[in-house]
Amino acid sequence: MKDLARKYRPRSLSDIVGQPVVVQTLSNAIKNNSLHHAHLFVGQFGSGKTSLARILAAMENCSVSPGIKPCGKCEICKKIFNGIHTDVREIDAASSAGSAEDIRKLKTSARYNPVDGCKVKYYILDEIGRASPTAGDALLKLIEEPPAGVKFVLATTEVQKLRPAIQSRCQRHDIRKIYWGEIAERLKVVAKKEKVEVEDTAINICARLAQGSMRNGLQNLEKLSDYVGDSILTGKAADELFGSVDETLLYELFDYLIGLKSSKIDTSSGLQVINKILQTGVEFRIIYQNLVEYLRNMVVMLTASNPFEFIDVSQEGKRRLKEQCIVCQKKQKHKALFHIQSALNEAKQSVDLNMSAEHALQSWYVRSVIVYNDSNL
Ligand SMILES: [Zn+2]
Repeated sequence: MKDLARKYRPRSLSDIVGQPVVVQTLSNAIKNNSLHHAHLFVGQFGSGKTSLARILAAMENCSVSPGIKPCGKCEICKKIFNGIHTDVREIDAASSAGSAEDIRKLKTSARYNPVDGCKVKYYILDEIGRASPTAGDALLKLIEEPPAGVKFVLATTEVQKLRPAIQSRCQRHDIRKIYWGEIAERLKVVAKKEKVEVEDTAINICARLAQGSMRNGLQNLEKLSDYVGDSILTGKAADELFGSVDETLLYELFDYLIGLKSSKIDTSSGLQVINKILQTGVEFRIIYQNLVEYLRNMVVMLTASNPFEFIDVSQEGKRRLKEQCIVCQKKQKHKALFHIQSALNEAKQSVDLNMSAEHALQSWYVRSVIVYNDSNL
């Protein structure tokens, strides 16, 4: 698997995952021939803003099948999707077009007719929020009175830095973070196309760690494939690579916390497990995420009639969760779990304020055991 993020970059609106509102708005506009002359895409890094901008340009300029599904194969499409078409200029506003002088130059060049077969010229201005204030003035004028046959796509991660006057002249599209389940579905399809065998647990780890970005998800999958070589991409390998807490340790920790192994209150065994977890070298951030996830799973176990529809763990994980759930249910410990969660959030804040992960986790654990055994909770 090589360069997956590039290879599987969307080339038409139907390839876009997790953005139904944007896709529907742009589909309708292209069908009704009413595409706005200036679009503003707002979203985090890797959310697909540039891909969307290229798709817009290709939908209007493809020489074979312009419209909702550009061919992706004609010379124009190929150049657009490689970011090298002369009539579809991609400009990093944070650097090259950051000055007013650059925008003025752009204004002059925008007046000329397309030179390489396009019907509509596109200017894709990335990181527009970081352009200088004078460049903003020049850009505003340009967008207010755009030359005929020219369209603009502005993209930014920091919309608050973009002047309201510019924002109001664009059609704004917010690119939301993609739900990890949707990323996982796409990664499965990609793995199949690449003829790579991969366990669902591994796919899920790649997708969850993608922070809502398909590009990150694909990069995680590629990294995992590089790591395991020719063998199957397993959940265990993903754990090793991305540093999740070994799930056995996690269940062991909660076995002690909820007194599944002994009814006597003794925090030493649990504290030993915490040390073991820390010795594996996993970052606190990941340990925190895994603990949050565990607590969330347990609350779902306690409250849902069909919990495994919403919980995604291994077979062994399901068995352990069921076992622990029975204990919590017997003792009516729903409320205590919420207090344990709050204590965990406080531990995270302490680490953010430079307390050592070891100290914070140990305090959290001891506090959790006390809370769990408090008969009032
Ligand atoms: Zn084409």
